[in-house]
Amino acid sequence: MNGKKQILDVQHIHMRFNSKGVCVRAVADVSFTVDEGETIGIVGESGCGKTTLGRCIVRAYEPSEGEVFYTAGDGEKVNFTRIDAKTMKKYRKEIQMIFQDPYSSLDPRMTVYDIIREPLAANFPRMPKAEMDRRIMDIAARVGLNTSYLMRYPHAFSGGQRQRIGIARALVLNPRVIVCDESVSALDVSIQAQVINLLHDLQKELNLTYLFISHDLSVVEYISDKVGVMYLGKLVEYAPTRELYSHPLHPYTESLLSAVPVADPEVQMERIPLEGEIPNPASPPGGCYFHTRCRYCTRQCEQAAPEYRELAPDHFVACHRAEELMLKGFQYE
Ligand code: SF4
Repeated sequence: MNGKKQILDVQHIHMRFNSKGVCVRAVADVSFTVDEGETIGIVGESGCGKTTLGRCIVRAYEPSEGEVFYTAGDGEKVNFTRIDAKTMKKYRKEIQMIFQDPYSSLDPRMTVYDIIREPLAANFPRMPKAEMDRRIMDIAARVGLNTSYLMRYPHAFSGGQRQRIGIARALVLNPRVIVCDESVSALDVSIQAQVINLLHDLQKELNLTYLFISHDLSVVEYISDKVGVMYLGKLVEYAPTRELYSHPLHPYTESLLSAVPVADPEVQMERIPLEGEIPNPASPPGGCYFHTRCRYCTRQCEQAAPEYRELAPDHFVACHRAEELMLKGFQYE
C-alpha cells in the first residue's frame, strides 16, 4: 500500500463497435488503477483506442465488457458499469471531460458566461443566481480568464483562452476526476505550456485527478505520474513515468520514445522507425498484435499473445521477450 486513496479501478474493459456486420475492437481487456491526486497519461498512435477508453471511463460509452469502479467523495465504491443513467447523473459532475478542440467544443452562439453557467444550471437548477454568479466568477478567475470579458462570445478569444473556457466549464461543478482528451494538441507550443502549467496548478490547489490522453510523449512525460501505452486497443505497457521513459520494456514504447525530439544537442537518440501501418482493428493479427511491426519478432510472437504481467514493481508489460531485450529509453541526469 502506498497510503494513497484509490479513486478509479478499471477492470478488463472491452469496447466493440459493430458496423455493417463488422466488429471492431476499439478497446481490448484494459485494466489499471488510479490514485486520488495522480495524473495518468495514456499514449499511443491515432486510432489506438485511447479516446474510446476515456469515454468508457466517464461512461459516455457503455463498455461491451468489464467494470469501472469509482470511489466517491464519501468513500463509497461505485460500479459505474452497473448503475442506471439516473444514478450515474449524481456522479457525472464528479468526473468531467476537457476536449481536444477548443474551437468546436464551445457553442459560438453562447456567451462565455452562459457556457460556464450551463452545467451549473443543469445540475443545480435551484441554485440562487447570486451563488451561481459567485461560482462562475471564481472559476473564471482561477483559470486566468478576464472576468470583465465573460459577456463576450468564444470567437473573440484566442485558442489558449478558449481552452481556459473549456477548463472553467469542466471545473465549475467541482469535479474530482478530469479526463483531458488531447486537450492541448490543437494549441501552439508556447500556449500548450501555459495550459499545462495551469492544469498542474489547479491539480495542486483542488486535489484533482487527471487521465491525460495524448499522442505527444513530451507533454505526457511532463504532466504524468504514471503512463500507459496503448496499441490496437490493448494496454501494452504501464509504469511510473520515469521508469517507463528510462527503462521501457515493450518494443512499441521504445520506438515511440525514439521519435520524441530531445532539446539537448549533446543527446543523440537512435530513431527506431515503426515499419508498416497499424493493422486494421477489425481483423487484428494473431499472436502479439504488434508482431507485424516489431523488429524483435520471433515465431512465438506470431503464434501466441503475450500475457500482460507485472515485471517490476508497478511496471506492467505484454511482451514475450521483455526480460531479455535491452531496450533504449531516455537518459536522465
Ligand atoms: Fe515484439 Fe514479440 Fe514482444 Fe510482441 S511479443 S512486442 S512481437 S518481441
